[in-house]
Amino acid sequence: MHDWQELYQEIILEHNRNPQNFGVMSAPDRVARGYNANCGDDICLFLKLSGDDIEEVKFSGEGCAIVRASASLLTMAVEKLSKSQAKWKAEEMLALLTGKKRESDSAPDLRPQLPLLGVRKFPMRVKCATLPWHALLEALAK
Ligand code: ZN
Repeated sequence: MHDWQELYQEIILEHNRNPQNFGVMSAPDRVARGYNANCGDDICLFLKLSGDDIEEVKFSGEGCAIVRASASLLTMAVEKLSKSQAKWKAEEMLALLTGKKRESDSAPDLRPQLPLLGVRKFPMRVKCATLPWHALLEALAK
């Protein structure tokens, strides 16, 4: 099993310091809020759709370094994907983060997001990492 620890810390710090696609979107087609009372994370995910594709994705709100990094990685992962591809990615990431699926069985498309799996060493923080992906599924289902 791969040890993501070093890369995990680097990625979390980098995305927390410099989150991608951070900010409120004007006139989004879909919005979903994710709230984690344990940690105080409270984020909003915004999608702009073009037909069946995600044209643009942004997030805003307050949260810890893990939720910010996870949301930042999410926006990079699903921009320009079709809704069904994005849904698949979110479901895969949730299965990996919660240990329902092993990383050796993960698809190559998910490689940029895999350092997030370092969070599994801190079970209390897994919810921080899964929050944005749940919000994405909610936004897509609306
Ligand atoms: Zn958190």
